[in-house]
Amino acid sequence: MTGTRAQAQAVIEYPVEFSPPDIVRFRDGNAGVPFVHSFEAARPGPHLLITALVHGNEPAGAVALNRLLSQQLRPSRGRLTLAFANVGAYARFDPSSPRASRSVEEDMNRVWSPDILVAPPRSADVARAIELRPLVEQADYLLDLHTTQHPNEPLVLAGPLPRSRELARKAALADLVVVDRGHAQGPRMRDYGGFADPGSANTALLIECGQHWAASSGEVAYAAAIRMLERLEMAPATFEQPSVTLPEVPSRFVEITMPVTVKREFVFALPLRGGEIIPRAGTVIGHDGGEPVVTPYDDCFVLMPSQRLIAGLTAVRLGRLISPP
Ligand SMILES: [Zn+2]
Repeated sequence: MTGTRAQAQAVIEYPVEFSPPDIVRFRDGNAGVPFVHSFEAARPGPHLLITALVHGNEPAGAVALNRLLSQQLRPSRGRLTLAFANVGAYARFDPSSPRASRSVEEDMNRVWSPDILVAPPRSADVARAIELRPLVEQADYLLDLHTTQHPNEPLVLAGPLPRSRELARKAALADLVVVDRGHAQGPRMRDYGGFADPGSANTALLIECGQHWAASSGEVAYAAAIRMLERLEMAPATFEQPSVTLPEVPSRFVEITMPVTVKREFVFALPLRGGEIIPRAGTVIGHDGGEPVVTPYDDCFVLMPSQRLIAGLTAVRLGRLISPP
């Protein structure tokens, strides 16, 4: 065995700090799709779609939608659609094994391609994505609520297009905005159809609200939903105030230039949790099949190192600070 030979790395477990909301009462919805509610204001305006539970092990988004639905919040203009996405996976959420319910059969946020969203669906997750697709196609704006494996500060994934970066600046859902192109494994909902079309006006943001099971993540998710409504001038006159304060403008933008996809057997060489800035180019951050993986430049930003180090999946994303739009 050499010094770089991969050793199985222990997965760090984090506590489930809150009770994932029971969403069964929202099953019927009002939009012809289970677990989807859509509310149209008398005054015209944009269609905002807010999605939770694209990953079934990320209940913070469900906390936010539960709160919006429970207070019967309605948009002051346009249309607000609230969708619990991978409800099949979430139904299996077990606080004693909280990582297990990410999907039913495959990651619902890697299937958003016309080639994959076809009948007969290849998985339960694709079947649900096909149900949601018309809403995703109709929405002018998407806010997709997610959380991270490690306790990271909230961050917005703005995707590669300038208009998404601009909306991320305007909405200011988090202090940190990350410009990225997604994953080798497959396309995300936030990059589907018009959201990725330079000629369209449809614009999507994904927010990572903090650690999957931290109580604060649900508060951030709710605050982000309210902020999005406010900055799109769709918020009603009164609503339940968020318990966390979001920044007025994001202070940092990071562009991911190097998504690291697991080729064989990936092991981190540093105890990375995300958000680190590694000063020197050429620093070994891990090994894949014994080959070193190094930082490509000085002051390299580390985004969301994964604990699911399986060939074909993203191990970590590396980037650098860029100027705000
Ligand atoms: Zn997620």
